[in-house]
Amino acid sequence: MSITVLSRKLLENSQNWYRALDMFDVILDRDGVLNVDVGYTHRLEDFALAPGVVEGLTLLTSLGARLSIATGQSGIDRGKYEEEQMQAFNEKLVAEIAPHDITFAAIVFCPHHPDYSDECTCRKPKTGMLEQIEAKLGPIVWENAWGIGDKPADADMILTKGGSSILIESGEHNNSTGTSYWSVDDPELATLLANPKNFVAYDILAAATLIETKI
Ligand SMILES: [Zn+2]
Repeated sequence: MSITVLSRKLLENSQNWYRALDMFDVILDRDGVLNVDVGYTHRLEDFALAPGVVEGLTLLTSLGARLSIATGQSGIDRGKYEEEQMQAFNEKLVAEIAPHDITFAAIVFCPHHPDYSDECTCRKPKTGMLEQIEAKLGPIVWENAWGIGDKPADADMILTKGGSSILIESGEHNNSTGTSYWSVDDPELATLLANPKNFVAYDILAAATLIETKI
C-alpha cells in the first residue's frame, strides 16, 4: 500500500471515528409522538404530524442525532389493520418529513399482543426492538442514546438499556384525559418521574431543546 493510500485511509478512519464520537442515537416512538394518535392509527387520511416534529427533528439532526423509530403496532395482531397498511403509513410519514432533510436510519415495529401471539421479545418495555435497530445499524452506545415516547413503556425500554428518556406531554394520554398525564399520582409514574435519566417535555421541539442542554 502506498503512503498516499495509507494516509488517505488513516484520514478516513479518523473522520469516521470523530463522526462516531459526535453521533448519538435517538429512538422515537411513532403514534402520539411523530404523528397524532387517533387510536390504532393506520389510515392515511388520519395522518397528521404531531406539534413541533419538523422543528424538533431538524434540531436533533443538527446536533448529530441519528434518528430511528421503534413503534408498537399491536393493532396488527388484533386484526385492526394489516402490516402493509402500517408500512404505507410509515412511508407517508417518511415522505412528509424527507423534504426537510430529515431521515430515519431504521424503522422497527412490534406487531404482537399477548392475547393473540406467544409472548414476544419486542413488545415495549422489552428491548427487542432496540436490538433489532442495533442489528441493522451496528453497535449503539446506549449510555449516549435518548428515547422519546409518550407512555411509561417507552421510557422503561430505553432506561433498561442505560439510555435517557423523554416523555412527551402532548401525546395521547394528555389529550384523552384533558389533564397532564404526567402529574397523575400513580406509583409507577412516581418511580419513573423520580428517575434522574427520565425527563418530561411538551413536544419533540421541547425534547430536542432539552437534549441540546444535556449533550
Ligand atoms: Zn413483539
